[in-house]
Amino acid sequence: MSASADDAPSSPFPPMTLTDEAKQELVTNYETVLAKARAIGGDAVNVLPVSKTKHPEMIAALLPTCTVFGENYVQELCDKMNYFEERGLEVKFNFIGALQSNKINKLAKEGKNSLLRIDTVSSSKVINKLSNSLATNEWSRPLGVCLQIDTSLEDSKSGIPYNDVEAIKSLVELLGEKDNLEYKGLMTIGAPGDMECFDRLKAVFEEVGGDVLSMGMSGDFEEAIKRGSTEVRVGSTVFGKRDYPVKS
Ligand SMILES: *Cc1c(COP(=O)(O)O)cnc(C)c1O
Repeated sequence: MSASADDAPSSPFPPMTLTDEAKQELVTNYETVLAKARAIGGDAVNVLPVSKTKHPEMIAALLPTCTVFGENYVQELCDKMNYFEERGLEVKFNFIGALQSNKINKLAKEGKNSLLRIDTVSSSKVINKLSNSLATNEWSRPLGVCLQIDTSLEDSKSGIPYNDVEAIKSLVELLGEKDNLEYKGLMTIGAPGDMECFDRLKAVFEEVGGDVLSMGMSGDFEEAIKRGSTEVRVGSTVFGKRDYPVKS
């Protein structure tokens, strides 16, 4: 097929225009979560809105109230960073999804301007590869890193086991040796309904230190803050229920 006559940049996102009411509702959702979070944890508590599967115009509706968002899928994240960069809008992202080693180069290449942090790092292999990729792509600022901790030790959970504190400390040390990476803190997903996961991560955090203790999502963010969370990742309570395409 030949290029279309008007050479508009091809966007994976269909055009979308939100009504003022719809925009206001998103801002209200976010501010409601923020107020609840801060009522429990004080002004230092951060709310990271998780925008996966949601149209970039829904993210834009929260500007300038909120400028940093969480995304789970590398391709979708890169498409969104590109969307805002093309429009000259300052929107930054933290990657909170499962990090496959073969996607690291893409993140390093396309995240140079808008990727602030990766929250799901759990091995020296990934740390080394990430640092090398950033160097290759000549990053001029360090990329933030949170180590993902497995606090439930269930079969399917990823992260460094919470009870292997030595392994966690050695990765914090390794991060300290990388000029282009900056250790920020710890994150966990935890088993749904198991609030003890938060207590376990809090205990590890007290041992290893850091600025960010990322735990809690829509269903349990208040409980997580009571148990020491400094950052909650809230998706559906801000943006609404997610629709995933049915896979055939
Ligand atoms: C999707 C997701 C969230 C947000 O989940 P909600 O229940 O919609 O708030 C938070 N953290 C991670 C790692 C996620 O993948």
